[in-house]
Amino acid sequence: MADCIFCKIASGEIPSTMVYEDDTVAAFKDLEPQAPTHVLIIPKKHVVSAADLGKDDRELAAHIFCDVVPKLAKELGLSKGFRVVTNAGEEGGQTVMHLHFHLLGGRSMQWPPG
Ligand code: AMP
Ligand code: ZN
Repeated sequence: MADCIFCKIASGEIPSTMVYEDDTVAAFKDLEPQAPTHVLIIPKKHVVSAADLGKDDRELAAHIFCDVVPKLAKELGLSKGFRVVTNAGEEGGQTVMHLHFHLLGGRSMQWPPG
């Protein structure tokens, strides 16, 4: 999608520190890390938020959670634990309108979030 920063990262038009990539998914380091490990996992196709996932996205969502998250958690050394979070919409605190899952680790996480 034109003017979407994460679409541009997925296509390589904007540089990023990519930690994982395949045909449908990319993962790269967050520019403003909130934890020692902070990567963003995105679908390469433009989906606005988790509110916009549908039946056609089951394989994609399963791929992210069943393949990419555990693989990255292992590769990034998050054996003590990690957090995966997605912000959706204004009250969800979403600032980039392309679906992304934050994978955070390397420190103790607090609950509840702010
Ligand atoms: P959210 O607030 O959930 O929409 O998260 C957006 C995240 O994208 C923030 O953590 C930003 O630091 C991150 N971000 C924005 N632009 C970039 C970029 N060009 N490369 C990497 N991370 C980015
Ligand atoms: Zn996009």
